[in-house]
Amino acid sequence: MNIILFGPPGAGKGTQSQYLVKKTKGFQISTGDMLRDEIKKETEIGKKIINDMNEGRFVSDEIVNQLIRDIIFDESKKNKLIFDGYPRSISQAKNLEFLLNESNQNIDFVFFLNVNKETIINRIEKRKVLENRSDDDLKTIIKRYDTYMETTKPVLDFYSKYLNFHEINGALEIDEITRKIDTFINV
Ligand code: AMP
Repeated sequence: MNIILFGPPGAGKGTQSQYLVKKTKGFQISTGDMLRDEIKKETEIGKKIINDMNEGRFVSDEIVNQLIRDIIFDESKKNKLIFDGYPRSISQAKNLEFLLNESNQNIDFVFFLNVNKETIINRIEKRKVLENRSDDDLKTIIKRYDTYMETTKPVLDFYSKYLNFHEINGALEIDEITRKIDTFINV
């Protein structure tokens, strides 16, 4: 089963994808984590993306598309993919469709954790303290939220035509969101 989780930063995508990883014995593909890792390891990619990441801008499609390619073709992860934070633009969605086609896979479920700006700001402020994330000052949070909603809206329109697209109220408690996701997934 391949699943895409959508939602602005702070909507709880990460938490729900970790739950789905356990439930479906899947693999989380968090492009945010992968990109932060590149910065931490000071790779060539890391050096290219550090400014965009710190200022809340999207990293180029080219870099992100390149990062996920190998995972999709990894036989041991086939049909066990939980996408957290990818795709985020139409170009990424088309790239994903192409790669899945090439590797004989489909998207089985798309969940959109929808949540307003105020709730997000409160949550990220708390997470900033817990996780000590450098890109999380308030200005960046707002920028990231706006960028996400602006750029991801066309992607949502693209996926909302899928039979298995479900919008979930991301302002609910974590457990309640998990329960809602559970009602759609039977494994
Ligand atoms: P996240 O951890 O998913 O909230 O992502 C943190 C930051 O990483 C974002 O604000 C973007 O700068 C970058 N990022 C993560 N995923 C993507 C993506 N699919 N496309 C472009 N930039 C991304």
